[in-house]
Order: sequence, then structure tokens, then C-alpha cells
Amino acid sequence: GLGPYDDGNIFARILRGEIPCRKIFENEHALAFHDIAPQAPVHVLVIPKLPYVSFADFSAKASPEAIAGFVRAVGQVARDLGLDEPGYRLIASMGADGGQEVPHFHVHLIGGTRLGRMVT
Ligand code: 5GP
Repeated sequence: GLGPYDDGNIFARILRGEIPCRKIFENEHALAFHDIAPQAPVHVLVIPKLPYVSFADFSAKASPEAIAGFVRAVGQVARDLGLDEPGYRLIASMGADGGQEVPHFHVHLIGGTRLGRMVT
């Protein structure tokens, strides 16, 4: 697995304000900001405020309130960006085979163009 949570990971540093980000949404549950290397016209990352290394960790350990708050935040960000009608894609990379690079759970919100069957 990804091991214990590393407080030095890049998203932890963004949450602490040590590294800047192009923030688009923040509440008690989640922070959303533009990906630094966008793969589509809209490429936003949504991360929970609490320290979970991966989707596996978050899904197993987060409280129902934290999970609901995070999911609601993702939906609100997409809505606020005007994506509901054209649509969008959510991706969560998990672990080595999933290609996860940053060990703080995050969802990619991708849109602004007609996507193909899958994003690799
Ligand atoms: P993963 O492969 O872990 O699911 O995706 C990590 C994402 O984080 C990548 O799309 C990458 O471009 C993005 N990323 C990595 N470092 C930074 C950073 O310092 N700032 C921002 N905004 N995005 C980052």
C-alpha cells in the first residue's frame, strides 16, 4: 500500500498554505484547486481536509459526515463551474497500478471538452 500518511506530501503543504494553489472552492470538508498540469480545459483537484492517503484509506476510515461532505463539495464545484449540463468526468487514482502520485486522497474533476471513452 501507500503506507502511513506523510505530512510532507504536496497536497498537505497546499492545505497548510505553504505552497500556493489556484483555489476555486473551500469549506470545512474540502479544498478544490486547478491541477498544475491540466489534461483538459477544466482539470480540478478536490481533496478532503483530513489526512487520508488514498481512496482505499478514505473510504474505509472517514466518517459518514466527512464522506458526505466531501462528495457534496465535489458536486458543488462541478455545478459552480457550470459543468452539470455539458457533463464531466471524475477520476480517483489509487495506488501503484492506479498511477497515484500524490499520497493524499484526491478526485480529478475533468471537463470542458467531449472526452473519449476513458482517460488513461
Ligand atoms: P495522481 O496521479 O496522484 O492522481 O495526480 C496528482 C495530480 O496532482 C497530477 O495531475 C498533478 O499534475 C497534480 N499536481 C502535482 N503537484 C501539484 C502541485 O504542486 N499543484 C497542483 N495544483 N497540482 C499538482
